Order: sequence, then structure tokens, then C-alpha cells
Amino acid sequence: MAQVVLKDLVKTYGSVYAAKDVSLTVNDGEFVALVGPSGCGKTTTLNLVAGLIPITSGDIVIGDRIVNDLDPKDRDIAMVFQNYALYPQKSVFQNLAFPLQMRKLAKEEIERKVLDAAKVLDITHLLERKPRELSGGQQQRVALGRALVRDPAVFLMDEPLSNLDAKLRVQMRSEIKRFHQDLNATIIYVTHDQLEAVTMADKMAVMNGGLLQQYDSPANVFANPVNMFVASFVGSPAMSLVPLEVANQDGRTVLKSPEGWSLPLSDANARKAATLTSRKVVLGARHSTIKLHKGQVEGAVPAKVYTVEPTGDITFVQAFLSSSIVNISLPPSVQVAPDEMVWLEFDQDRIHLFDGETEMALR
Ligand code: ATP
Repeated sequence: MAQVVLKDLVKTYGSVYAAKDVSLTVNDGEFVALVGPSGCGKTTTLNLVAGLIPITSGDIVIGDRIVNDLDPKDRDIAMVFQNYALYPQKSVFQNLAFPLQMRKLAKEEIERKVLDAAKVLDITHLLERKPRELSGGQQQRVALGRALVRDPAVFLMDEPLSNLDAKLRVQMRSEIKRFHQDLNATIIYVTHDQLEAVTMADKMAVMNGGLLQQYDSPANVFANPVNMFVASFVGSPAMSLVPLEVANQDGRTVLKSPEGWSLPLSDANARKAATLTSRKVVLGARHSTIKLHKGQVEGAVPAKVYTVEPTGDITFVQAFLSSSIVNISLPPSVQVAPDEMVWLEFDQDRIHLFDGETEMALR
């Protein structure tokens, strides 16, 4: 396996920057997810690494080679695509063997590699079947097998689970994670699904508008999002973001709403608020950190319930706070109804504050 380094990678289409100065290092054996909304540049970035499209500027290093000008076949990579790209007329065995035959490997070696890969992916019993005789999950495993037999330095995967139904997706998620652990493979994995990235990857590269927003472990991205985009993209339900103003009230720093309520800040949060570039601030809080009270409580602020969604073990509530929707999770024993007035208490140690002008997290 090998490490992959992207240095100031740029890809433009006319005036559109599909990737803009993307720099990151994927360490040897690491599983990195490129994640972001449609059009953010994740597939472009993967295709640049694969060599499927030429770069505008920057460098791509795989192992110890700059591969900018190498053909895909010379980059020592294997790709797994969303549509599996299996040969319909060939059996599973022939699908796995084909890339090795192209490399002119000896027959015995091909057979050994195919059987080894089939064993890893638990598809030995399917080797004589044609792709159309396989379920979606089995086809996906064959596609992984075809990448595996090539024994590449890096696996590149583009939304490999998006054609599977929800249940199978969850199952294959664990299998790909296991595949990574067992092989200690270097994997770059594109997905629009933040949950896939959070659950599978060692590191996630969150992209938006061609720009790399944050590159860190899922736990750090979740706990310390660098800006409002990352804060709202990672986590489900999304982090609630409430635009407010910072003010001084009787010597204390508070967050003030246009409706007139105010929320005093702890000393640590007041110090963060002191770094604001204007009075505009955005309060961020995750659903599990907000306490809902049915009566007025000191330090809590008034909100109006909008929707109530019981899911069995957790009830998700959306409420209007000022003019923003806030997500809250409750145990099913707490009953609330749409349009009910409630009071929300924020955990000062777990709220996030963002600059209302720059949208950057206050540190
Ligand atoms: P999706 O999840 O929808 O595939 P993505 O994050 O993978 O999105 P890219 O496909 O990398 O996004 O596209 C990034 C940007 O580059 C988009 O604005 C897209 O319209 C543009 N783009 C991609 N390919 C081309 C192309 N061949 N010609 C022109 N513009 C392109």
C-alpha cells in the first residue's frame, strides 16, 4: 500500500473551479472519505487521482512517484464504481480474472489470486454465475473483488453503495470497513452521505464549492466543525444554527434575540464572542445537547414546537427558536405537541459559536 499526497490540486472547467487548491495527505493504510453535497468536487478530485481527467495545476503523489502525467493503468490504483462496471457476459470468475489476464499473468497465478480474493469477499460459491444472476450486494462484492485481485497501492471508490437499498447499504458499509481493516488498505472513498463517511473513514475530507473545508477524523469534525457549512453537513439531524446578536447586559456578555430574550454566556464562551468581527453571531447546538422544559426555567429560552417525530426509542422535535428551526431529541416518555410553548436550555460547554459575518467557528 502507499500514501497519497495532493498538493494544491486545481481543476477548472471554464470559469468553474471543480477543485480549488485541494491539499491533503492520505497516509499509508488510511481510509479517507471525500464527502460533500452534489457538485462540491469530490468525484472530480477522485478522478484526478485516478488519472481519468487531466489536472489543471498542482501535484498528485502516490507512494514516492509524482503521477500527474501517468496513465490510469500506470498509477497502481484500482477503482470501484457506483454501477460496478462488471462484464455481463463473463462469469464472476472471468470478471475477476480479466484484469490479471490483461497483465499476462500465468494461469495458475491468476487462479490463485481470484480464489484468494473470492475467499476474502465470501463469493467463492458465486464464481460460476453471471452478474445478472447476483443480488446488488453480491455484485458489489464482485466489483470489490475485481479491484482486490489487482493488489493496487490505492483503492479509489466512487459512491460504491449508492445503488443498494438502505438495509444492504448498512451491511455493505460494515463489509467495506472490514475489508479495509483486514487488508490495511489505502482507500479514498467518495460519498455524499455524511453518515457513511463518519461510520467508515479514519479521516473525512469535507468539500464544498471545490474547496476542502475540513480534513480530520470524523470525531474531531463532529466535535469541532471549523465553519457553519461543516457544522450543518455533519451529523443527523443537523446541528441547529440560530443567528443572534452579541450584547453586553449588566456587565455580562449575552446572546440577544430580536424577540427580546437573552442568553448569558459562560466566561469561556464570552471570551470566544470577544473575537467576533461584528455583533452578528450564530449559536450552534446539536440535538442531544439541548434540554427541553415544558415550563419556564432560569437560563432557558422560549421556543414553539413545530413538528414531533417519534421513532420508537427517541422522539425528534423541531421547534422555532427566534426564527430558526432547532432540532431536539427526547426520550419517548416526554410528550410534546405541535404549537406548544417550551423552554430550551443550552449546555454552555457544548454549544458552538460562529461569526455571523465569516461563518467561521469562534475558538
Ligand atoms: P455529485 O455528487 O453530484 O457527483 P461531486 O461533488 O462529485 O457531485 P463533481 O462531479 O466533482 O461534483 O463536480 C464539481 C463541479 O464541476 C460541478 O460544478 C460540476 O458541474 C463541474 N463539472 C464536473 N465535470 C464537469 C465537466 N466535464 N464539464 C464541466 N463542468 C464539470
